[in-house]
Amino acid sequence: MRDIQMVDLKAQYEKLGGEIDAAIKSVLNSMAFIRGPEVKLFEEELQKYLGVNHVISCANGTDALQIAMMALRLSPGDEVITTNFTFIATVEVVALLGLKLVLADPDPHTYNISVEAIKKAITPRTKAIVPVHLFGQCADMGSIMKLAQENGIYVIEDAAQATGTDYFFPDGTQKKAGTIGNIGTTSFFPSKNLGCYGDGGALFTNDETVAKKLRSIANHGMKEKYHYNDIGINSRLDTVQAAILRVKLRYLDQFNTTRRTIADFYDKSFAGCSSIILPERSDYSSQIFHQYTIRVKNGQRDNLKKFLGSVNIPSMIYYPEPLHMQEAYRFLGYGKDDFPVTSLLCSEVLSLPMHPDMEQEQLDYITLNLLEFFEKH
Ligand SMILES: *Cc1c(COP(=O)(O)O)cnc(C)c1O
Repeated sequence: MRDIQMVDLKAQYEKLGGEIDAAIKSVLNSMAFIRGPEVKLFEEELQKYLGVNHVISCANGTDALQIAMMALRLSPGDEVITTNFTFIATVEVVALLGLKLVLADPDPHTYNISVEAIKKAITPRTKAIVPVHLFGQCADMGSIMKLAQENGIYVIEDAAQATGTDYFFPDGTQKKAGTIGNIGTTSFFPSKNLGCYGDGGALFTNDETVAKKLRSIANHGMKEKYHYNDIGINSRLDTVQAAILRVKLRYLDQFNTTRRTIADFYDKSFAGCSSIILPERSDYSSQIFHQYTIRVKNGQRDNLKKFLGSVNIPSMIYYPEPLHMQEAYRFLGYGKDDFPVTSLLCSEVLSLPMHPDMEQEQLDYITLNLLEFFEKH
């Protein structure tokens, strides 16, 4: 049996290596490392895949969030509501731009921001909501968009973990994660469902004026060469990364389907185990399982993680500490017990190995060991 990894990029490269090598070589032949033709081609292909009017690539998913907030002219003192249970990048840019970070608890079943918590957090100074589509599943966008429209608030979707997820509206229509709010952002960090071989990111919007602003800000605020209309930043997707992403985009749906099959197997294997809570799938979203994250009851999470490690099964805690308790965010002035759901999740969640190249033998080994642990505990 091959060594089990959380994400096995090497196994993927063994399959796609020929195509990827050729894509990289073609960029080397052109030497067009910045804004080469592959960047535009990738943007067009992703745009078509997502069914959105504009895709603007940039250097990483964190920059994408920053560029989005700059383009919407959010300014110091404006309040931005986001989930307390997310990767640091989501809140970091809010703080960096001098905006007022307002945290909200997630829903304990989907792990995504709670609509009830958003309702409580809205004030007349709220300018934006940033739902994060955590672990591959959409937040409750129908309710969030309704709240946003009623209150005149922008919605920036952090779709870094949900490139390719579908959101289903009650009328039977569907849209891709990141294409529902005013702006969507994503990351192509290597371990994301659509990942490159370094850093990369993108923004999505259906609004042409916003798209122009995003494109300008990502490229020094430049209107035409050496003429600047906006204060911008330097955030571009490298041509080499775009060429790699063009190859990988063609496999994204296939890989996401395989992830779902693996999740089905985990679900089925663990169905009788009363010591864990399985990740819940909502009826308004597909699930591309960026992570397969269980909740371990009875304070056994850390013991389980240690045991799995002892039999060479990696597992990860996303995320171990609530954002409001992090040293850097103490200034927000929240109290330890202000976010009971976040605190609960941080003490119970455990993500198991999940990637499209998992072998049945590995899955059998993981599920067998996990169930064995609970027979003894
Ligand atoms: C990965 C990630 C980001 C940031 O992406 P980078 O490309 O690493 O900057 C932002 N938000 C979430 C939820 C993420 O998972």
